[in-house]
Amino acid sequence: MSALLRASGVWKSFGEREVLRGVDVTLGRHEVVALIGASGSGKSTLLRCLGLLEPIDDGQIFLGDLDISDPRVDGNRVRARLGAVFQSYNLFPHLSVIDNVTLASRVVHRMPRAAAEARALELLERVGLADYARQHPDRLSGGQQQRVAIARAIATDPEVLLLDEITSALDPELVGEVLELVRGLAADGATILMATHEMAFARDVADRIVFLDAGVIVEEGSPAALFTAPREARTREFLARFTA
Ligand code: ADP
Ligand code: MG
Repeated sequence: MSALLRASGVWKSFGEREVLRGVDVTLGRHEVVALIGASGSGKSTLLRCLGLLEPIDDGQIFLGDLDISDPRVDGNRVRARLGAVFQSYNLFPHLSVIDNVTLASRVVHRMPRAAAEARALELLERVGLADYARQHPDRLSGGQQQRVAIARAIATDPEVLLLDEITSALDPELVGEVLELVRGLAADGATILMATHEMAFARDVADRIVFLDAGVIVEEGSPAALFTAPREARTREFLARFTA
């Protein structure tokens, strides 16, 4: 499978602290990869580095054939090809739901407002929130806001979706509706790298699981292999916390 997004030997420190220590990870087109690991293991940092939201200290990141870690690359153009959703919904509170969804299409991709809104309404329909298009985000539940954030992320048809624990700030009863949406995107062929603590979901939806521990990829494999027969002691210890 040809890699759509690939990190090669990525190192990242904050001050003295080495957070990523030579990470190699590959995401194939239409592949869904779940990134698991303890809090503080570097999952968010890796996603932020891959999304060019954080500079790396060493290594390379490729989007297709393009080395996007090359400082001569136009970061805004690269970021326009990616979609990201984070734990906290990060919707713009002063903009209506539909303006949140259309903003990047209008401003970055220079799509005319009417076309951007027509597309946004389709997406809001898809995430079950067309009736909320003219509301402000604070009128929506956390699960609804996160569904808007997903609609916003896919509005520009990104090549890759980077999802960082997008359900972990939600009340338990709201987690399912967001996971179902991600499941649908995966079924439609989206390319997704998602950091998650939802092990059952990862097992069900991901093509591959990558386990990160202290900034190092300790093990990766199919969900069946990694969850049922992890090879590494550190993987077994981590997974034991979820089955206790
Ligand atoms: P995870 O998402 O797996 O919980 P993170 O990537 O958020 O892990 O964090 C890994 C480590 O990097 C943590 O020790 C965290 O405190 C540190 N870290 C993350 N972002 C920053 C930052 N902007 N400045 C300083 N330290 C950071
Ligand atoms: Mg994190």
